[in-house]
Amino acid sequence: MDNTNRMILEFESKSKNESFARTVVAAFAATLDPTIEELADIKTAVSEAVTNCIIHGYGDCSGMITMRCTINGDELTVEVEDSGIGIEDISKAMEPLYTTRPELERSGMGFSFMEAFMDQLEVESVFGEGTVVRMKKTIGKHAFKGYSQKTGQDAV
Ligand code: ATP
Ligand code: MG
Repeated sequence: MDNTNRMILEFESKSKNESFARTVVAAFAATLDPTIEELADIKTAVSEAVTNCIIHGYGDCSGMITMRCTINGDELTVEVEDSGIGIEDISKAMEPLYTTRPELERSGMGFSFMEAFMDQLEVESVFGEGTVVRMKKTIGKHAFKGYSQKTGQDAV
């Protein structure tokens, strides 16, 4: 069975669009029949990535954020891209508790949450040009598949 699907969403870097973006991804991922926990993980990771574009990527300016989502089998890929300031040192930015905006009471945990809640996280950035965050998660990884390892037979 062909289980591939794609969608692209472009929206302005306004904080009210953060909940819009995570709701759209959750609706798109719903065809994979995720658990409530998996959906919550995806929404949290998307929120963190989109908030970063708004706060760090564009800062006081406004710009467009592009979100590309792909389903391939039981794997969901979400890419969140901005054309903002970019990240000078990606490994440093990904360290837990590292933030360049402590005055905004940021805690420097966004990338750590994305890493914890998704299976894979990749960050590409060109300083002065923008940033792409790519996250992957396999849905139904821990689900009971109705298969018995002991007998090699379908259990249901
Ligand atoms: P928190 O997410 O806990 O509120 P934070 O946003 O500072 O705090 P991270 O999300 O882990 O923490 O990001 C770490 C740092 O990486 C940021 O402080 C910022 O310097 C940089 N960064 C992250 N995303 C972007 C982006 N899209 N554009 C430019 N810089 C970014
Ligand atoms: Mg953040």
